[in-house]
Amino acid sequence: MPEVQFEVDVDSPPDEQPGPNPFNRWHPDIPAVVEADTGEPMRLEALDWTGGQIGDNDNANEVRDVDLTQVHYLAGPVRVEGAEPGDLLKVDFLDMGPLNDRSEFGFTGTFSQQNGGGFLTDHFPNAAKSIWDLDGYTVSSRHVPDVRYQGKIHPGLAGCAPSQELLEEWNEREQELIDKHEEDPESIHNHPTGESNPPVANPPTTEGALMGEMDPEDAEAAAEEAARTVPPREHGGNHDIKDLSIGSTVYFPVYVDGAKFGVGDFHASQGDGEITFCGAIEMAAYIDLEFDLVKDGMEKHGVDHPIFEPGNRGPTFENFVTFCGYSVTEEGEQHYIDSHVAYRRASLQAIEYLKKFGYTGQQALHILGTAPIEGRQSGVVDVPNACSTLALPKGIFEFDISPGNLDESSDRGDLLVTDDPLG
Ligand code: ZN
Repeated sequence: MPEVQFEVDVDSPPDEQPGPNPFNRWHPDIPAVVEADTGEPMRLEALDWTGGQIGDNDNANEVRDVDLTQVHYLAGPVRVEGAEPGDLLKVDFLDMGPLNDRSEFGFTGTFSQQNGGGFLTDHFPNAAKSIWDLDGYTVSSRHVPDVRYQGKIHPGLAGCAPSQELLEEWNEREQELIDKHEEDPESIHNHPTGESNPPVANPPTTEGALMGEMDPEDAEAAAEEAARTVPPREHGGNHDIKDLSIGSTVYFPVYVDGAKFGVGDFHASQGDGEITFCGAIEMAAYIDLEFDLVKDGMEKHGVDHPIFEPGNRGPTFENFVTFCGYSVTEEGEQHYIDSHVAYRRASLQAIEYLKKFGYTGQQALHILGTAPIEGRQSGVVDVPNACSTLALPKGIFEFDISPGNLDESSDRGDLLVTDDPLG
């Protein structure tokens, strides 16, 4: 086992760690706390993305009340010897897993529409929670019975620090979207239409900011412009790509000297789209990494976004029930080749289908957010309808979900749902 270069204490708050502070903002001046040479494996540990706000208990209010200014808590930054702007930082994901001796559970949530919202928030406005047991890489939940499978563990979030110039570009373009929404909410496609108004983007805020080991005097000023970790951007970031599991190699664009790599937000498993939003199966975890450099790789390969070679770690499923959706809203409004609407309709079809097998809508949502479902943009040219598909692996269920095989008497309980969205 490689030496642990970044250690966490899951029983201490993120800002009172015995080791180095994690960080939860992107800024070029957050100092590196780990030094890496290329070709030398190392182990990093990370807290779950909420920094321990959600526990292994039956209280869904923790999800409803989660403090979203604090997320995510990342390990690093790692300064890679020799890395310069314009390089690609090659990162081999050698191994990862739960912190077995300290934290052996994962959680999934549905955000309240008043705090976080999400992809299907108009259909599921109340916060909900399910707890997952991690038996090695095999996952199951007392809140979602008759589902059990091997997860494809991966970090939801990984990337290098932005340059000052890139950071300013992010802030400018995201503020433009926020302003546009303020002027004319209707102009923002695919923003939830319910009574509440989850933000269209998250501007910098000093509230909840943890700037790693930065000098407190400088940290406040930097936090005023530091990028939130919610979206993925050119440097990587919160990708939530389920296939970046053990054995994957990712090439991240380098924007600052030393790269300043950070990683966290581990998932025991996730479905394409992470449609639950308050998570895949969220967990604290370790990762073993090895770094290398492709000098001038951005120009040589013509890329300024990450590229990756997925590992071949399973599970591999051969049999699926696949659901289709087109770009026509639930109200019957025709949209023009809109894959977001189409994927939402495919997801809702899958949820209604699973309800007939005895699951509640929230349970079905948590299955689609956590199990390795395959989401595809199957068609983007057949005007006016985009076609998106959602392939649900049959092998994750302990019963047969084939069409025509319905046992309508099944009752599979429910997960933990708050009935009071306002708290
Ligand atoms: Zn996550």
